[in-house]
Amino acid sequence: MKISHIEHIGIAVKNLDEAIPYYENVLGLKCYNIEEVKDQKVKTAFFMVGQTKIELLESTDAEGPIGKFIDKKGEGIHHIAFAVDKIEDQLKQAEEKGVNLIDKTPRKGAEGLDIAFIHPKSTFGVLTELCENKNK
Ligand code: ZN
Repeated sequence: MKISHIEHIGIAVKNLDEAIPYYENVLGLKCYNIEEVKDQKVKTAFFMVGQTKIELLESTDAEGPIGKFIDKKGEGIHHIAFAVDKIEDQLKQAEEKGVNLIDKTPRKGAEGLDIAFIHPKSTFGVLTELCENKNK
């Protein structure tokens, strides 16, 4: 696999309206985008830190992935996302190496990125997302 940088870190929060002021007023970051991703039953808020983003995730459905995550583990780091080129090829290579993929083919994530998740069973406990910006 060839990773160019950490695209974003996904952080599960109970409530964006409560979490955003911490990032803005304490950390001094600026929320530049809020977007709902219906497919993943989340509302996301983005902050830029260098070339890496912080993606806050609020569940819009208790039965969605973030709802279940917070129920089990509480708020906190949910996933790490690596930027790659040719995401389809990267997924194929990973699969050939015996990695357990959640998404065998990419789907659309927030900000128009093509994304795919690797199962934490294959990544030493870290839910890992690959993403490619095909609009750049
Ligand atoms: Zn993400």
